[in-house]
Amino acid sequence: MHKFKSEINEIEGVYQIKIDVPFAVKYVCVYLFKVGDKLVLIDSGLNMGNWRKRFFESLRELKIDINDIDYCFISHIHIDHIGLANILKEQNPNLKIIMHDISYELLKWETNKANLVDLKQKAAEIAEQILKYGISKEQGKKVVQFFTYWPQFLVYQKPDIIVNDGDIILENLQVIWTPGHSFGHICIFDKKSKFLFSGDHILSRITPHIGNFIVNEFLHDKYRDFDFNNILKYYLSSLDKIDALNPQIIFPAHQEIIFNPHERILEIKEHHKNRLREILDLIKQNPLSPFEISQKHFGTDLDEINSYMALSEVLGHLLYLEDLGKVKKLEDDGKVRYLSLD
Ligand SMILES: [Zn+2]
Repeated sequence: MHKFKSEINEIEGVYQIKIDVPFAVKYVCVYLFKVGDKLVLIDSGLNMGNWRKRFFESLRELKIDINDIDYCFISHIHIDHIGLANILKEQNPNLKIIMHDISYELLKWETNKANLVDLKQKAAEIAEQILKYGISKEQGKKVVQFFTYWPQFLVYQKPDIIVNDGDIILENLQVIWTPGHSFGHICIFDKKSKFLFSGDHILSRITPHIGNFIVNEFLHDKYRDFDFNNILKYYLSSLDKIDALNPQIIFPAHQEIIFNPHERILEIKEHHKNRLREILDLIKQNPLSPFEISQKHFGTDLDEINSYMALSEVLGHLLYLEDLGKVKKLEDDGKVRYLSLD
């Protein structure tokens, strides 16, 4: 079994507990800091291997008892961020777990075993849909498996506080809804210190995956004005929203702490701008399927899941361009191709 290594760092009064993981992101970080006499934890890490053991060892090293922690924000409901929420709550029933309304709704839905059939059905519909985009039937099957695989690792934890964009907790902590990597993703901005806890929204070296995932009907009804398809639009405007706050330091859930937030935000925006440009150039007078575009972009030697991730990323960019009127969707014989109008 993988043995996780951990380290504790202190940055301007914020404790970072950094524990490595055998995934591409290399490690998962959680943060602890005081607001007045309250102790706040950002994210609840991962419940796999000995991550949990390392986390509790780190608390002991910091001489912090689990019962000393008052609030725990969940940036989003991926397993490396919500992992220990139920265990922390079990050990400290007074702990207030905070998550965005969409995270709460999705978590409740995905962790309800009664919805498994529905979830499989929705995954099958997505797979059916993306056959039109050029992937093989075999790959479609893997996509269904992927969508129904990860929710198994999620454990339901009822939030004590459900938040929406702009909500303020403990006078200084502002909730910034940043949909993109996950629909219910939030960043936490400390208005006093101007520190931003960015979850996976802003990372130091990679751009988070922006794609389309399964959404239950209930969310569509509740968030009628939200375009769940054009997620890149929300991701980019969330970056602007963060930039306007002028954060001094960004504390992300993976990779390095960011001491030049404005430059990093510009870099990420530039990355997407270039990708949009490259896609437009690829389909100038030469319509291609989203899958063909993703192969030209990310290469052909990806496994099924990564090639689906690449496809969904490309699709995100195409939907964004379509919304701007810069590409045209051509559909014939059940196959979809896109042409640049730029
Ligand atoms: Zn993550």
